[in-house]
This record gives sequence, structure tokens and C-alpha cells, in this order.
Amino acid sequence: MLSNSLVELDRRHLIHPVSSFRGHEARGVRLLNSAKGAQVTDSEGRTLIDGFAGLWCVNAGYGHESVVEAAAEQMRRLPYATGYFDLGTEAPIRLAAALAELAPGDLNHLYFSLGGSDAVDSTIRFVRYYWHAKGEAQRDQFISVEQGYHGSTSQGAGLTALPAFHEGFGLPFAWQHKISSHYVYRNPLGQDPQTIIDGSVAELKAKVEAIGADRVAAFYVEPIQGSGGVLVPPKGWIKAMRDTCRELGILFIADEVITGFGRTGPAFACEEEGIVPDMMTTAKGLTSGYVPMGAVFMSDHVYETIAEGAGAKAVGHGFTYSAHPVSAAVALEVLALYQGGLFENGRKMGERLMAGLATLADHPLVGDVRGRGMLAAVELVTDKEKKTPLPAAVQPATRLFDRAWEKGLIIRSFAQGIFGYAPPLCCTPEEIDAIVERTRAVLDETLEDPEIRAVMA
Ligand code: PLP
Repeated sequence: MLSNSLVELDRRHLIHPVSSFRGHEARGVRLLNSAKGAQVTDSEGRTLIDGFAGLWCVNAGYGHESVVEAAAEQMRRLPYATGYFDLGTEAPIRLAAALAELAPGDLNHLYFSLGGSDAVDSTIRFVRYYWHAKGEAQRDQFISVEQGYHGSTSQGAGLTALPAFHEGFGLPFAWQHKISSHYVYRNPLGQDPQTIIDGSVAELKAKVEAIGADRVAAFYVEPIQGSGGVLVPPKGWIKAMRDTCRELGILFIADEVITGFGRTGPAFACEEEGIVPDMMTTAKGLTSGYVPMGAVFMSDHVYETIAEGAGAKAVGHGFTYSAHPVSAAVALEVLALYQGGLFENGRKMGERLMAGLATLADHPLVGDVRGRGMLAAVELVTDKEKKTPLPAAVQPATRLFDRAWEKGLIIRSFAQGIFGYAPPLCCTPEEIDAIVERTRAVLDETLEDPEIRAVMA
């Protein structure tokens, strides 16, 4: 009864992110009530394994009392302190120092936002300010990668390269350019790693040349493209792109909003290829979704250039809730949990997840299994030779998502027929195995769908 009235109130009043308003009104909301570890309980009392950690964010898992306590303690003592007017308080300062220590290379300066989108947006502002400070204000052109996702602010959504974020919004802006994705499974250059790397390097160089070598400000990239379908570049790709940016004299911004905080194994995915970006964005796993927070990591040379350029003037960028003390207290406790064993467990469970999903490769509907650590995807096809995507009539985003739900599994089910996985790092071996087995059950049932039988007969 309570659920029914909530569904109705939701339908009338709550706008859901990235949803079809009409589609959502028709389907109604699905209510979650509670969670512990890697499992959530819905309003019908069904317990599910959260194979997507909320929205790839609850890396530490649900129900950590120590995190709740850290937030409550900070709220009791000092719920808010502004960072404006040279003020501050302990938790954000300690967090900035701890993250500078954890980050690769000289990413020693932290600007805190409320999430990933405004972290990316902050970097756009910092990049522009940097080039102004260097006396090269004409460097106002930005390059990112097809299938990339860099959030949903009015500028960041134009660096994002997913049509739904552009259509009807007048995006991208003319200063926002794209190069092709590495998308190994469907790369027109084939699947040879070196050929893909060489192709991307050549394309970035050609793009900079076409725009004008002295016009390009920065290149944005995710170490693994998340929202585009969990697209994993060949080993060496990200380093090659970083080196190319240095050679071209443009800033390299790594968007680690998904890949940060143990998602792929190390604390940050950039570490895997020993690269240090000029700036790095994070969010999600920073607080494990318990409260909102994002962070821009800024390298020494970017910080120094901006500082010198501004001199005594204020650098006019900030939010009321930059470096919020409650978020910082939560992030500090989450970091302690990571370093106290969750990173280690995530690495072990990531190997188990990848090995388990690999056993699905010979299923008639599976075209590709890819991933790194606790970030993975299974791409569904109806013809393995031709790599034919699932017919749209199968409605993966709703029907296959629901099917997994019925089997006690939450996954991301992308509209193009890709299952995405990002389980909490706290998963047990049994939970990882259940994720794989429940996926197999979804695949077997989908094989019987009339739309699938029609094309596979
Ligand atoms: N950048 C990347 C790589 C992301 O995956 C996301 C969100 O999924 C964002 C930015 C935006 O973060 P948020 O949704 O916290 O604003």
C-alpha cells in the first residue's frame, strides 16, 4: 500500500536522471529499501546482488557503520565550513593530503566538487585559465573520444560523445571535437593492438593539425570508457595518447570518475601504464556513494601556472559545497576501508569475475567479454561471425534488465545489448560466482525470446 502511493508520488513529482519521462511514467519506479555488503533489498522483499554498485559508485559496499559514524560525528561537531575567505577545517585538508599521497606523480593539489560532472566542468575552467595565464588564450579547442562520457553539465555534456546528451540540447559546441574510440571489438582497423594504437595516435595528431596546432587546449579521455559500453583500450593505448599530448604540447586530462578507487585493480587506472595526467577527475568511489563528492587532481605545473597567472587576484571558481566537511569525513573513512583490505579483496574478486565471465564466451549470444578488475562487460550478438547486435525489439535496457532483476541480479543493461558489471569491491567469492551464473540464466532465457529465435533460426 505504501509502495503504491510512493509509485504514484514518484510518477507525479520526481524527474529521474537520463530517463524517458513518458517511459518512466508508464513503467513506474522500482523501489529499493535497504542494503548490506553487496546485496540490496527491494520493496517486495527480494534480495539482489548489486553487480553494478549503484551506479558504479558503491565501491566499498553498503552498510559500513564506521562510515555512518564518521558522517554523524562530523555533522554533530561541524556540519559545514566554507573554504571561502581563507577558512577551512580538518577533514578536507586531511583528505587532500591523503589523496595527493595516493595519486600518481605530482598530482599534488585537490579541488573538491559535488560529483563527477562538476569535477569535469571545473577542469574545463581550469584548462582555459591555465592557457590564459600562459599568454595563449587562443587555445580554446577541446578534443575527446567517441563513445566517451564526461558528465552532464552544459559544457561537459559536449565533451561526452553519446547522442542522448546532445540531441535537443544544442550540443556539442563548435570547440568540442572528437576522435574515434579504440572500441577493439568493433574497430574498423581490426583487432591488432598496435594497429589500433597507431591509428588513434595518427588520428589525434591529424585532428590537432586540422584544428590548428596552436589552438588546442586539452585532450580528455577515460582510461576505460564506461558509459559508452565498458570499452577497454589495448594495453599501451593510454600511454601512447598521453605521450602524444605531451609531444603536441596539449594538456592531458584523465577522467577516472568510474575507474578510480580500486575499480580496475590499482587505486587509479592511470597507474597501470605508469602515466601521470596533467589533471585527473574522480568522484563515485571517492565516497563510495554514501554522500556526494568529486575531486579534481591538479599537477604541480598546472597549479603553479594558474597561481602565478592570477597573482593577488582570486581565481574565480568555487561552489558553496566545495570540500564539504561531511563528504570529506566520509571519504577519509572510505579510504581507510580501502587501504585496510577492500582494495586487496577487489583485486582478487576482479580476477575471479573476469575468469567467471570468460566462461560465458562460448554462449551462442555472447560476442565479446572484456574488462579489467571489477569493471567488465559482456556484449551480446545474434551472429558471432558478423557481430550482429541484438535486435532493438529485444529492448535490452528494460526487458533484459528486468530479467536479471527477477533472477536476483542488478547489472547495467545498455540499450545496444551490452551487460555492464561493476560490483562492490567487498564481494565474496560466492557473490561473484552468482553474478556469473545468474547472467548465464538470463542469456539462456533470452535465447528463447521470439525476436531472437526469429533471427537465429
Ligand atoms: N565522468 C565519467 C567518466 C563518468 O562515468 C561520470 C558518471 O558516470 C561522470 C563523469 C559524471 O559524474 P556524475 O554523474 O557524478 O556527475
